Amino acid sequence: MTFQSINPYSQQRLKSYRADSAAALERKLKQADRAFTDWSALSLAERVGYLRRVGQYLSDHKGSLGDLITAEMGKTRKEGAAEVEKCATSCTYYADHADMFLADQSIDIDQHNRAFVTHQPLGPVLAIMPWNFPFWQVFRFAIPGLLAGNVGLLKHAPNVFGCAVAIEDVFRQCGLPGGVFQSLLIDVAPVERILDDKRVRAVTLTGSGRAGSSVAGIAGRAIKKSVLELGGSDALIVLADADLERAAETAVKSRMQNAGQSCIAAKRFIVEKSVKKQFTELVLHHIRQINQGDPMDDTTTMGPMARPDLADAIERQFDESVANGAKSLTGPVLRNGCNVQPMLLDRVKPGMAAFDEETFGPIAALIEAKDAADAIRLANQSDFGLGSALWTKDLDRADRLARQIQAGSVFVNGLMRSDARVPFGGIKNSGFGRELSEIGMKEFVNVKTVWIE
Ligand code: NDP
Repeated sequence: MTFQSINPYSQQRLKSYRADSAAALERKLKQADRAFTDWSALSLAERVGYLRRVGQYLSDHKGSLGDLITAEMGKTRKEGAAEVEKCATSCTYYADHADMFLADQSIDIDQHNRAFVTHQPLGPVLAIMPWNFPFWQVFRFAIPGLLAGNVGLLKHAPNVFGCAVAIEDVFRQCGLPGGVFQSLLIDVAPVERILDDKRVRAVTLTGSGRAGSSVAGIAGRAIKKSVLELGGSDALIVLADADLERAAETAVKSRMQNAGQSCIAAKRFIVEKSVKKQFTELVLHHIRQINQGDPMDDTTTMGPMARPDLADAIERQFDESVANGAKSLTGPVLRNGCNVQPMLLDRVKPGMAAFDEETFGPIAALIEAKDAADAIRLANQSDFGLGSALWTKDLDRADRLARQIQAGSVFVNGLMRSDARVPFGGIKNSGFGRELSEIGMKEFVNVKTVWIE
């Protein structure tokens, strides 16, 4: 079996990749198992040294690696280079803090007994990753995971297998021992067998609910730890006292970056009635500034969507929402292959695809709220609960309201984003477990109690 990597803007075939045979897969599993023994026996300082080198390498090569991302999945060159740089700075962040995060914790029991907690790696971890941030999604697992002493096996999305191969090469170029990080060139068929294999100890998946449900089911049967990051339908709430100019600019940036293909994009703009007209005009103004086109052209601000079937899905969600009463403020869908112009839907309500489903493309939904309480109610009326944003100048009120929003994060007067310093993840159908920060690092360690009498 072969996989094709296709440039979504030009539809030109970039490269073919032959699938790993059963024998090749077995070799990689054996290598991961062997590598774990040596890698986990290194001191943390030695692993930190390797990861600092990885960070430097990524920073030095962000142009070429960013261009590879652009060619395979269509984000702009600027976005591609920024993604690689984010991986680099996160290497430095974890290298600086791993010692503190993984330090033993001593616990006073009584005058005769003492105990301490130590954090030990689990073994080879399978990472099933999507194409939308083909470097960042992988590195945000790999950096803390490898530093903790685990080894990584990556099953990437086939449309970004060039990135998968390049990431393995980054670790090789930085001198990490063979087997510490390997890419598996496979489709979903062998995943069950890999997860059932005793050598593989845990799994992390970023992607759709369908994929997450299947993988967590297999992991559960095999009694293996799983972390799921499954996307969302994030609310961006704009209250009457908000800085509307900044809120509108940030809302459009959040929604339209990466051609709308971000799990933590603001997908539902929930706006208090008294400022909705003004906010809508500002949003439309910012949408009109977007220059959709060739992502390799430095004047382009939004590239194509990553695959034709993903553009089909966004077109269906637009059509169904309009058929159910939503009003397009940007005219009909303007689409050429994977190139989709940004869209704004007004009068969106529960029961419409643009409200109920995850919209993974350049389509924003405007929803009117009577007041702040109604806005929170609408925000929570979702099967998802990944991120959210709240715009108001009253920070005491923001503090109270943020606690009422059902989501893994709330950004007050700012852009929703993932950042190595804070935990990232969701509730409800957005998944479970956390990535990033100290909490994310500890998802894949054995928190071991040692009690001494
Ligand atoms: P998928 O969830 O199908 O793909 C993500 C990753 O999971 C890929 O590596 C994929 O492999 C793998 N995968 C899919 N099904 C299984 C399975 N049953 N067992 C094991 N691995 C599996 O996403 P799509 O690319 O099809 O996108 C569809 C929708 O998913 C999007 O429109 C969006 O709504 C959501 N999504 C959310 C993302 C996020 O960041 N939260 C990222 C990507 C998608 P393969 O490609 O070989 O099937």
